[in-house]
Amino acid sequence: MILAQLPRFHLSILAKPSFALSSSHFNFLNPKPSVTVARALFSFASKSSLATVEPIPLSVSDSSDLDDAPVEISLDKLFIPPETDISGEDPASLTTRILKGSNIVLSKYARDAQVVQADYVKSSVKTEDCPADGLPEFALVGRSNVGKSSLLNSLVRRKRLALTSKKPGKTQCINHFRINDKWYLVDLPGYGYASAPHELKQDWNKFTKDYFLNRSTLVSVFLLVDASIPVKPIDLEYASWLGQNQVPMTLIFTKCDKRKKKKNGGKKPEENIKEFQDLIQGFFETTPPWIMTSSVTNQGRDEILLHMAQLRNYWLKH
Ligand code: GDP
Repeated sequence: MILAQLPRFHLSILAKPSFALSSSHFNFLNPKPSVTVARALFSFASKSSLATVEPIPLSVSDSSDLDDAPVEISLDKLFIPPETDISGEDPASLTTRILKGSNIVLSKYARDAQVVQADYVKSSVKTEDCPADGLPEFALVGRSNVGKSSLLNSLVRRKRLALTSKKPGKTQCINHFRINDKWYLVDLPGYGYASAPHELKQDWNKFTKDYFLNRSTLVSVFLLVDASIPVKPIDLEYASWLGQNQVPMTLIFTKCDKRKKKKNGGKKPEENIKEFQDLIQGFFETTPPWIMTSSVTNQGRDEILLHMAQLRNYWLKH
């Protein structure tokens, strides 16, 4: 079994106690905020876990490339998947179910997470033109250069699949990739191009906003935020818009491998992440799920797939 370790940071994440999503999505449980998870020591074996159907084996890390500082996430800042009863659960045992580098608790719905097949399906210019087969989907969106293509390629373990979305004519499209013939990963246009005229940026906003509000099979938006640089106002705007419109959102912090201080305004990814979370907390009733990732080290890859699996399996059941 592969041994790994949870990340090296103290985070007191978001504060508000109930993130009310639209009724077609989750009604998140609202755990009592009294207990602090002192150390989340466990993680999931990176290869075997995704193939596992029922309880996923946990293992204690002895990895030495990360610091051994405790992770502090109070219970009200965890993402508890629906139908996951943690009342009466020993906090110490709950820590074994927190996905590594995230605030997400593993639930019974975390199965069939592995990607065995990924196919580009189509590029659409309108929500109505998107595939109509009713399969659940997850949309990846983020500022240009945030690492969206790299993440998509890493999720499907294909070096160049996301290149399809970068081909001329497709960068402003809704690009659908079918996974295992069962669900979709959707690559949305990047936003915030420095060189784009203001009006064009507005158009992109309208384009993706329509998709967020009207795509009935959208299970969750995955908003990518570059953790290696200081917080960008445009990312805050995006997150707050999703929160205010009750569009289910998961925050994916990218480039968490970048640890050099100089270029990043002196801040570590963990500090940028904390700042981002502090700044958006007013827009959410409960803490949105978040995951730290790196497409260089594949950090967070399995955690994203497990998270998607539990959201998807719950969505399919309801
Ligand atoms: P996109 O424009 O959002 O699709 O971003 P890309 O995936 O093309 O990545 C933009 C740049 O960031 C490229 O130079 C990538 O090599 C780099 N990059 C992407 N992900 C990571 C990451 O996790 N860590 C590091 N260090 N660099 C990354």
